[in-house]
Amino acid sequence: MNSADFTPLLTWAERQQAQMVERTIELARINSGTFNAAGVDAVGERLLNWFATLDPQVERLELPPFERLGSQGQNEVHTLGHALRLRLRPEAPRQIFLGGHLDTVYASDDPFQQVNWLDPSRLHGPGVTDMKGGLLVMLTALMALEQHPSAEGLGWEVLLNPDEEIGSPCSAPLIADAARRCQLGLLYEPALPDGSYAGQRKGSGNFSVLVKGRSAHAGRNLQEGRNAVRALADFISALDDLNGQRPGVTVNPAFIHGGGPLNQVPDSAMARFNIRIEAPEDERWCQQQLARLGAGINGRDGLSLQLQGDFGRKPKLLSSANLELFDLLRECAQALGLPMQLMPTGGCCDGNNLAAAGIPNIDTLGAEGGAIHSASEFLLVESLSRRAALSTRLLLELASGRLDQRFWPAA
Ligand SMILES: [Zn+2]
Repeated sequence: MNSADFTPLLTWAERQQAQMVERTIELARINSGTFNAAGVDAVGERLLNWFATLDPQVERLELPPFERLGSQGQNEVHTLGHALRLRLRPEAPRQIFLGGHLDTVYASDDPFQQVNWLDPSRLHGPGVTDMKGGLLVMLTALMALEQHPSAEGLGWEVLLNPDEEIGSPCSAPLIADAARRCQLGLLYEPALPDGSYAGQRKGSGNFSVLVKGRSAHAGRNLQEGRNAVRALADFISALDDLNGQRPGVTVNPAFIHGGGPLNQVPDSAMARFNIRIEAPEDERWCQQQLARLGAGINGRDGLSLQLQGDFGRKPKLLSSANLELFDLLRECAQALGLPMQLMPTGGCCDGNNLAAAGIPNIDTLGAEGGAIHSASEFLLVESLSRRAALSTRLLLELASGRLDQRFWPAA
């Protein structure tokens, strides 16, 4: 296949700029904080409308509710929006996975809900970069691919999940399931702040801890009480002290709640924390430390500590197949005159999940911008067409058999 054949489609993708910006704004104006199921579904329905021109098979998949330890020690249950699975040509010899998330980190009561222009090149708004702009990049590239005859040989499966921002706890089985049908993955998370692509990624675990003690009157019989706040504070201090003890492992105690009236010894306190790991074997070390710290509290008279959670995302290491995929991306970027640099990151995404399922992937094909996960999030709007052209080229190369030797020897 002569790459010159691609030029009209790359140009076509670039010309979708105005529509991509318009649609990004439309999506960003709909709040889709992870626990706003209706908002997440509304974003999903807009996308389904736009994807409909490609006529894929569509499934709206219900996910189990997300459950975690609530601040009062109760079981907190959150309904999630639907996951959407779109497939085209499931019988084609080459099958690829494209992933994106519908949710954002901004809850429906977050003050950051507005979209506005900082200047003609930067759009400020919730989720514009992470990852509503990225979803448009994906859609546009697929629309370009479908105009080329070589698309016939490439089947694709898009999964739009509603819970990525909380670690994809409920959609993880859908990603693992797709990994059985697809041989490589493209994910539309934002580029790193300098425009680089994420290479190796750390693994991540989310945990909750609940300490129960015994209440007593602060004045009459304090010594009969067992102070849960104090015990939890000790646990958290020891937990934070794990920072620096093992290279690549970091711990972030992030949420704490406990106690009540000032004249009562508190009998309950809870906290949530996140751990990042670099190597697969770090997980065992962390579990041992958690067990040790937990036992320290459980060994105290009248106090008990209960720990929940696990490492939902394993470290993403780059296999030789993954490096080969990056080589093709580099070539596509160079052909378009774009820089292409790989950087390791402590952040996680569904690329971790895919890699854990044995599927090489590139997970930062989405938009460029900055300050994601903050009220200053902005999108570099010109990156939309640039990135759409890049993905278009990558898809066309894959459809033309460029990586057949590695991924589809029988195609
Ligand atoms: Zn994201």
